[in-house]
Parts: sequence; C-alpha cells; structure tokens
Amino acid sequence: MKPRLKIAHLPTPVETLPRLTAELNGPHLMTKRDDQTGLAFGGNKTRKLEYLLYAAQAAGADTLITAGAVQSNHCRQTVAAAARLGLNCTLIVVGDPPSPPDGNHFLFHLFGAELVFAERDAVQAKLVEIDQSLCAAGKRPYLIPYGGSNPTGALGYMKAMLELAKQDAAPDWIVFPSSSGGTQAGMLVGARLSGFQGKILGISVDEPGERLKARVAELASETARLIGQTDTFTARDVLVNDEYLGGGYAVMGAAEVEAIRLFAECEGLLLDPVYTGRAGAGLIDLVRKGFFKPDETVLFWHTGGGPALFASKYQGQLLGYA
Ligand SMILES: *Cc1c(COP(=O)(O)O)cnc(C)c1O
Repeated sequence: MKPRLKIAHLPTPVETLPRLTAELNGPHLMTKRDDQTGLAFGGNKTRKLEYLLYAAQAAGADTLITAGAVQSNHCRQTVAAAARLGLNCTLIVVGDPPSPPDGNHFLFHLFGAELVFAERDAVQAKLVEIDQSLCAAGKRPYLIPYGGSNPTGALGYMKAMLELAKQDAAPDWIVFPSSSGGTQAGMLVGARLSGFQGKILGISVDEPGERLKARVAELASETARLIGQTDTFTARDVLVNDEYLGGGYAVMGAAEVEAIRLFAECEGLLLDPVYTGRAGAGLIDLVRKGFFKPDETVLFWHTGGGPALFASKYQGQLLGYA
C-alpha cells in the first residue's frame, strides 16, 4: 500500500434512506456519506488529496497548482488542504468569476488561493506556464491534475472500497456521479482487491459514455500498476450511464432541482447542483423505470459538493423565483 496523509474523517458513515425508498417505492436505498470527509465541508476530493499531498510533501513541494471551474469542489478542497499544510496554492479557474464571490469560489478566497483565470482550452498551457514561472522564482510547485484524477489520487477510492467492505454493507449497486474518472477508477481497483460483488455504475456528469469509460479503464489500469498489480481494465469493465447530461456541465435543470428537493425533503440530505444532484436525478429516474430489482440494495455514494448550493445562480432556481 502507498503512504498517505491522514486528513479525512474515516470511515464515512453508511446510512439507510428509508423515506426516499418509500417515496420512490424503491429498491433499498442507502448512502455512503463522503460529503462528510471533514475537510472544508468534505467531498470525494479529500480521499484523493490524502495520497496526492503525501506525494507533494515527499517531493518537497511548497506550492500546489491545480485547475477547475469557478465552483470547483476540487479547488476548494485542494486550497484548504494547502492551508492546513502551510503550502501556497495557485488555482487556474475556468469561467467567469461570480461577483461577489459565492459558494466554493468564496472559499477559494477565504483559504488564500492565488487565482488565475483561463479559457478551458488554455488550462493545460497555463498550468505549464505557471509551473515554469514558479520554478524560475525558486519555488517548488507540485501539479495536481483536474479533479485530482491521476493514479495517485485514484488510490483514495481504491482504499475507500476496502473501507466499505468492512462496513457490513454489501450493496448490489453503487451509484454516484462520475466526471474526471478518478473516483470510479479507484473504486474499480478497490472492488477487485476487496472481492466486491456488486456493480459500480457511474452517472456521467459531463461526458459521452464511451469517452468516460475509456478514461476510467485506462486510469484504473494505471492505478493497479502503481500498487504492483498486473490487472488491466478495459472499457467493458466500466459501467457508465450518460443519459443525464442535461444542459451540460454545471447547468442545473428540472431533473436536478427535483432530485435536490426530494433528497432534502425526504431525508434531510443535501445534494449539490452539479454532481450529486445530477446523479441523484439519474438514480431517481432509473428507480422509476424499474432498472433495479425491488429486492436489490442500491448505495448512492455521496461525493459532496454542498457549498455550490450557496452559489447565488442556483438558489433562485431551487426556490422557484428564477
Ligand atoms: C469531483 C466531483 C465528482 C466527480 O469525481 P471524479 O473523480 O472527478 O469523477 C463527483 N462529485 C463531486 C461533488 C465532485 O466534486
């Protein structure tokens, strides 16, 4: 096993969702609360950062560089972790900054991030440029990819599957939002290690299924190699549903609004507008369509994202006045 920093509050709880199950006339619905990983409102990036930041410290880094959208949970968690370890953090931010800063973007400022804005196509070049200029200034930057999704980051979800195996929950399905692929890739590697028998279904947030499957398979193979396994994964090993892309990345539509409201009203549980709201909407639709057998157990892996609820662009829509 690779070393990691201990930052997250683990194990995260597994809870039943009895009122949502009844409301949807269910299969048995449960959730794993990775929205409660403890770092700056939690979320799935904490588990990845445990491995990534160990590697950053081992490399003698004094500055983290990463990139994400204006409401990126990954950026929020990375800059919080940087603050906690006494590192500087530069964020390359894609999109128009909210004014005044709200939601995650507000937290980027509060944690003292250095912000650089870029167009989506220019992010990679900007990362390299900033890396080089920091090096030239005598700094020791450490680059963390989009979403923390490289093999080192994916180890967080390999480990999470070993954690789930000890939690007396053997779901038939795990359902969760999948985007940059590190979460799903890590889960696949961990599932083989732990002998998990269920199916791992990623609800694509922003990508055609075939592309996401290919990325997850490649990342899972690289992650397995990193821990000395000879296992490989192909796209056929990856389950992705891409029927819920809606209006595109970070565009909250009627389906996400319904999911957020239903989880809130039935279970007092907060989903987010971008990721868990979309995956929650997918889950609800799949249940209604009879995709799951009535006696199956479906674990909705809550990946966090709650602070984006406090981005004002979403609030009017959620309460019906915009
Ligand atoms: C980043 C993120 C995801 C997607 O995880 P990937 O590893 O990028 O696929 C899902 N949910 C939330 C809340 C996230 O912030």
